[in-house]
Amino acid sequence: MMAQYLALREEAGDCLLFYRMGDFFELFFEDAKTASQVLDIALTTRGEHLGQPIPMCGVPVHAAEGYLARLIKAGCRVAIAEQTETPAEAKERARREGRASKSLVARGIVRFVTAGTLTEESLLEPRRANVLAAACEVRGIVGIAACDISTGRMELEECAPERLAAAMARLGASELVVPEGWDQAPDGAIGRGGHEFSSDGGEERLKLVHGVATLDGFGAFTRAMLAAAGGLIAYLDHVGRGKLPLLLPPEARASDAALAMDEATRASLEILEASSGGRKGSLIDAIDRCVTGAGARQLADDLSAPLTDRMAIAERLELVEWLHGDALLREDMRAALRALPDVGRALGRVVAGRGSPRDLGQLRDGLSGARRIADRLGQMDDLPVLLDRVLPDLGGHGALVDHFARALVETPPTERGQGGYIASGYDASLDELRVMSGNARRAIAALEAKYREDTGVASLKIKHNNVLGYFIEVAQRHSDRLMEPDSGFSHRQTMAGAMRFNALALHEEAARITEAGGHALAAEDAHFEKLVAEAVAARREIARTAAALARIDVAAGQAERAAEGNWTRPQVVDGLALEIEGGRHPVVEAALKAQGERFVANDCRLASHDRLWLIGGPNMGGKSTFLRQNALIVLLAQAGGFVPAKSARIGMVDRLFSRVGASDNLARGRSTFMVEMVETAAILAQASERSFVILDEVGRGTSTYDGLALAWAVAEAVHETNRCRCLFATHYHEMARLAETCEALSLHHVRAREWKGDLVLLHELAEGPADRSYGLAVARLAGVPPKVISRAKSVLEKLEKGRAETGGLAAGLGDLPLFAAAEATREEECDTLRDKLRDMDIDALSPRDALEILYDLKREA
Ligand code: ADP
Repeated sequence: MMAQYLALREEAGDCLLFYRMGDFFELFFEDAKTASQVLDIALTTRGEHLGQPIPMCGVPVHAAEGYLARLIKAGCRVAIAEQTETPAEAKERARREGRASKSLVARGIVRFVTAGTLTEESLLEPRRANVLAAACEVRGIVGIAACDISTGRMELEECAPERLAAAMARLGASELVVPEGWDQAPDGAIGRGGHEFSSDGGEERLKLVHGVATLDGFGAFTRAMLAAAGGLIAYLDHVGRGKLPLLLPPEARASDAALAMDEATRASLEILEASSGGRKGSLIDAIDRCVTGAGARQLADDLSAPLTDRMAIAERLELVEWLHGDALLREDMRAALRALPDVGRALGRVVAGRGSPRDLGQLRDGLSGARRIADRLGQMDDLPVLLDRVLPDLGGHGALVDHFARALVETPPTERGQGGYIASGYDASLDELRVMSGNARRAIAALEAKYREDTGVASLKIKHNNVLGYFIEVAQRHSDRLMEPDSGFSHRQTMAGAMRFNALALHEEAARITEAGGHALAAEDAHFEKLVAEAVAARREIARTAAALARIDVAAGQAERAAEGNWTRPQVVDGLALEIEGGRHPVVEAALKAQGERFVANDCRLASHDRLWLIGGPNMGGKSTFLRQNALIVLLAQAGGFVPAKSARIGMVDRLFSRVGASDNLARGRSTFMVEMVETAAILAQASERSFVILDEVGRGTSTYDGLALAWAVAEAVHETNRCRCLFATHYHEMARLAETCEALSLHHVRAREWKGDLVLLHELAEGPADRSYGLAVARLAGVPPKVISRAKSVLEKLEKGRAETGGLAAGLGDLPLFAAAEATREEECDTLRDKLRDMDIDALSPRDALEILYDLKREA
């Protein structure tokens, strides 16, 4: 056994090995130590290896899923080694091989369970996609393949190496595989043999999976994309031990088809996850009104990759508006959708070979529900374009639904082993077998009465258990009659207070039940396989139906949310406007509402002649909230949904950036000013005229002088070079002077008032510079002791006096040439130097003249 175990252990690689022994999965050696710690179960020992006791722990097979879920969550991967033959088969094999010794049951790894390759309902979150990704580099281009095997969706894309992190942030993959030793590999990626990532191999594998001679019908794929696909499928092949999960035809994702957002932006906007971790407090949590898991997953996908195609956005918006305008229809749709099972995931399990009768029932119910929705919609005129397009996807499963409806009972069980899921009337011979075992059961009931009469023991019972099968039980004190030699009963077992017997007639009926039952199970099994094959054959059409249902759910949910919060349909236009009237922050508003407080709506009006708003005002005044709400409104609009505002006109944004000054990140343990600067550098390098940037207190993470200087220079560069739309919150009053030189920059502030010595934050945006910072008032509001406040007041007076005398921190900044002008001056100086060098005839120079020239240059510099 040790030899068998060690061979499997070797094969399991860096996965924990679950080694099946009877009703348990056992873990040994290091695996046992890891698992017992993660799962908090007892670590014991068993036997010895090389003179040392072997650490061991185990989990019961029937409860294995729960333990697996915890191991996967903790970042482990697991190899499952099952018994691949029964003890009887093992004995038979040993006999054939001429071995007399006790035979060991053969075992093999049947599956690897990893975070990215789950299909079990209990291991997946219903409202979140579970993505497995592969990435590699082909001649300087990174290819990325991503799939969600729980629903079969697969997409391929490529990008420049420096965009890999942003692409991975969008995908949010739970597992990433890369070629072993790739120097660009993100942390935590799993290295696989480099040969698996070949574009030819990838193309071949894709063709094979989809049974096509060319991939042209699916889209245009580059070599990098195909290479990544190759690595992905090879990994799936490995993990499933040759059995591939559901894979739908790949879709090529163009890198500019989505509003680009890098990792820092996603994190700071808290799109799918709040910065405190988890979904609560995130954007999606505040807007998700989907009634199906598939809808919620689609919404998350939409929010992760808002569109940049005006037509596509308009189509989504049209559908939302249609459902928004008709509350009755919307409620109808949502009620119909709410009742549907998760068709996509049921299909995923069925295709992966892990489907249950219940999954087949879910396909039946989901598809027939889709047909009802299609019928309802089909009767209506003037459907929105998007609906018109997906409508055919909803139907077309008539034959399959009818077949499944005839074949399956109303609510099929999750367990296949006990049978009982094929409906009566579907298969006459199966019905007959059931009648036979039913008759035998009745016969056994009749026997009970007969035996009671024969023996005169009124409390005699016929019982059943898995070890003895059927048996007769009487209390000890009544057993004498049955023990008599010619009674016709044979003794089987003595229990405390009771005795168990068998009888010939009982034995015969029991055998009849077993036989008929066995045949019935086999018959049901055969039907099951046929139904599975039928579903597998229709997998693409079923997946399309699931996608259509999800799309309708997303739109209905958006419409519902809009109706709830009085949201509006945004206009997404060409041009560089960003006009939001009465905008609100969906998450902050919801939080305030829960406390019975009101959110103050604010306007934002950016245009190419007024594209940078510098926003001042006290801490806690609402600056961050304003910045983010506008970014979120852009994101929601381009994802094709309504927005929390009175009106919104948005010139399409190509990239969205959000940066928060370093000290805000302290909670996340990323206090370093370095991070802030790296992120800011990325904006300066990437933001275009079409981008929208929010900068919140950039420069705060360092000393006042450094901070102001950097904030100043960044604002100037954004204004002069990037020329993007930008909201810049800062507490440096001095920056107001930028308005004198930057013509497209304007000053704004969040209003506050001091009233009877108390600070009142109005959360209202107004034009003009902030008059003062109210820092001390905020401190008092926060409960800093009066003594400290009054001391701070005296210090402030001194400082302000000093400022009045010297002109303050920014004295002289007004004379500084602008960022671009400064650049130009430097360029000019270089030009002069270049001219001088060009005119110089070095061969004709004496050493002394050369030295003279060098001295001159040094003087000028
Ligand atoms: P700042 O960035 O100026 O320090 P925040 O944007 O973080 O301020 O806002 C601080 C708090 O003020 C928020 O948590 C919220 O409770 C409240 N707040 C912000 N904006 C508004 C608003 N428009 N209406 C009502 N309350 C607001």
